[in-house]
Amino acid sequence: MYSPALLEEHASLLTDVQYIAVSDHPIESTTHRIIYRPGIDTLKNENLESRAERLLGRIQELGSVGATAEAGVRRLALTSEDRDGRNRVVSWMKQSGLEVRIDQIGNIFGIRAGKSDLAPVMTGSHIDTVYNGGILDGNLGVLAGLEIVDVLNDFEVETNRPFVVAVFTNEEGARFQPDMMGSLVYAGGYDLDTALQATSSSGENLGEELKRIGYAGKMKCGAIIPCAFLELHIEQGPVLEAQGITVGAVESLQGISWTEVTITGQANHAGTTPMSMRKDAGACAGKLVAFVHQLAIDIGDPQVATVGVIELKPNIINVVPGSARITIDLRNPDNSILTDAENNLEIFLQELGEKHDVIIATTRLVRFDPVQFDDRLVALVEKNAERLGLSYRRMTSGAGHDAQMMSRICPSAMIFTPSINGISHNPAEATDDADLIAGANVLLQTVFDLLDDQPG
Ligand SMILES: [Zn+2]
Repeated sequence: MYSPALLEEHASLLTDVQYIAVSDHPIESTTHRIIYRPGIDTLKNENLESRAERLLGRIQELGSVGATAEAGVRRLALTSEDRDGRNRVVSWMKQSGLEVRIDQIGNIFGIRAGKSDLAPVMTGSHIDTVYNGGILDGNLGVLAGLEIVDVLNDFEVETNRPFVVAVFTNEEGARFQPDMMGSLVYAGGYDLDTALQATSSSGENLGEELKRIGYAGKMKCGAIIPCAFLELHIEQGPVLEAQGITVGAVESLQGISWTEVTITGQANHAGTTPMSMRKDAGACAGKLVAFVHQLAIDIGDPQVATVGVIELKPNIINVVPGSARITIDLRNPDNSILTDAENNLEIFLQELGEKHDVIIATTRLVRFDPVQFDDRLVALVEKNAERLGLSYRRMTSGAGHDAQMMSRICPSAMIFTPSINGISHNPAEATDDADLIAGANVLLQTVFDLLDDQPG
């Protein structure tokens, strides 16, 4: 829509503007009835500082859907709260004139057509949350994508390539496993039918839940292959804040290895069973925790290792534990070091089982190789941070993200904004407004660069 105020406000754009006379009101002066279609290069100096309320307001509004008493948010994947959040985002997409398509795993794509049928530029993230999460994780990336659409619309810019804002299903994996499911299935890394059969801990079926909330779409997973995928996300760690840096140009993502260990010994009387005659699953669990912690310290940074779950049975004060279930999370950006860590764990478990006369079984729950993002995209992110006068650094992501899965099918990269105190997956998750806007500005300009890109 032509707006005189807008045209005045951005009078500097007029030098590059093409004027098209509109004939439906021939009596009105043609000087006031024009549609101008500037090229995207006229938005080189555009940023979101003066229009920050729209993005910040939507972050708050989406954060109010599924709000918890602790001022956090709970929109577990494919619950009614997730549906309400999806509906909110889809209505914004439609308001902004996007064509909305839903694929078979429930991923949402809002498409803004380009002048050509070239492969689109895609950005996005997820809006599902953990049990009591913050309002930024995932949501920032989706809503910043919508904001880019609205800037393009405000200036009536036609882009060379189409632009797509994606919302991926079940990134968190808090209700259905595996995590990052929507993007993983989309990228062909996980079977669609297996994913649809996933069952929650309370017995619900993923495919049925998709239908119930109205997001069992028809589009084939992987139907749109972008020329580039960019994801803006909060860091969820302390590095940027500690170093006083505003923008993370994420060049890699560490490999993740999850193992579940089950130790079966013999439950017995705590008073009458001599130490030498025990099959103590609890003592083994304790040794395993200590081993895993020391393993990461011995390997050194950036190796990390975590035991997040220990369940003993029967879990009674005067009974030697008969069984134990322990989960181990190992991460490293170097695949060979991560593999060594896994092998060392295996050797330790074998020795532990023999020494304590217990049976130890392991299940590999998750194994994702480290990801190297596309160097050209990372350099473009750096270039735009530099041009916008923002401090930046290259970094590795400690957490898994949808961009990791998209990197299987197209050049991908991520932009991080600082997390206050490094806190995430917690109602206290926060980022300064200025940092959110700075990150969104880098995304905006990087997307603009790519939208005008010619195939080469
Ligand atoms: Zn996330």
